[in-house]
Amino acid sequence: MAFLRTIDKPRIRELYDEVLSIKADLGDELVILAHHYQRPEIVEVGDFRGDSFQLSQMASDQQKARYIAFCGVHFMAESARIVARPEQRVFHPNLNSGCPMADMATGPAVGRALDELTAILPEKETVVPVVYMNTDAATKGICGQEGGLVCTSSNAKKAFEWAFQQGERILFVPDEHLGRNTSHTMGIPDDEMLLYDPNQVNGGHSPEALRKAKVYLWKGYCHVHTWYTPEHIEQARQTYPGCRVVVHPECCSNVVEAADAVGSTAFIVKYVESSSPGDTIVIGTEVNLTNRLAYEYPDRTVVPLSRSLCPNMFRISIEKLRDTLRAMPTMNEIIVPDETIHGARLAMERMLALP
Ligand code: SF4
Repeated sequence: MAFLRTIDKPRIRELYDEVLSIKADLGDELVILAHHYQRPEIVEVGDFRGDSFQLSQMASDQQKARYIAFCGVHFMAESARIVARPEQRVFHPNLNSGCPMADMATGPAVGRALDELTAILPEKETVVPVVYMNTDAATKGICGQEGGLVCTSSNAKKAFEWAFQQGERILFVPDEHLGRNTSHTMGIPDDEMLLYDPNQVNGGHSPEALRKAKVYLWKGYCHVHTWYTPEHIEQARQTYPGCRVVVHPECCSNVVEAADAVGSTAFIVKYVESSSPGDTIVIGTEVNLTNRLAYEYPDRTVVPLSRSLCPNMFRISIEKLRDTLRAMPTMNEIIVPDETIHGARLAMERMLALP
């Protein structure tokens, strides 16, 4: 409740109280999940906050929860549906709140790319799909069927290591930058990576070039994170001498190289938690998370590298959450076909089995 004291809009307070009252009526039957990038009042009203995968796991662990309301973008609610137990029902307060990066890949397009690559590569060589959590259910489904796995920004390196034990090459979908940054941590040079454009035949490359590459990076990106530049970091170091800069691995590699630390949202939260009073931390990720950390740690300076907001996350409002909860189970339910769930679960289980 502490954060709500900063929100003085009576209308938000009213809606917040309505959501609390629905929660009180449903008790343990309802779980509200809030992603780190959600508005403050949504995070406050949530039972759990975290990144998309942590939240899905938390929901399925709630033995009594019949209803899961996922406050995040659409692929996150789908991921919760994939992981949830069959009797649980998953709802999303705004079905129009999608993730543009996740939308840059589709299951059929990834299937086509794998077919193209397999036709070009030497017969005994395998290309293993690795798909980021930030993809739709159909993309995860194809990935699972084709022997690949899902990864998060926390375990991408382990996922790559696993994939290289299964085959010679990786198709990483859909974030070029997470794929490139992960490849760099494994010592893979840029000339062994190819940007794969799904809108061009063979991703826009000759068969010879495709045979030389080790990692194919899907041409996709998150506009929230590619906003940051090395100049932002230079500017921050001038403004806050002695500061430390931490960025998300969806940032471009030149930003990652100029930062002091790089990691997932969970890593960034821990990075601030483990800093000391008086420290200055400059954060390169979605501004709602940075603002909340600044509020929670008033004894240190926590500032955004530059203000970059995810408008898609912002489409979830306390009013839409209230409307969805009120209408439950008749509105905004997430349905994923069984055959898609099967493939997607395979891909997620392979991730869970990573050491
Ligand atoms: S921050 Fe980027 S990856 Fe995350 S939901 Fe928004 S657009 Fe998608």
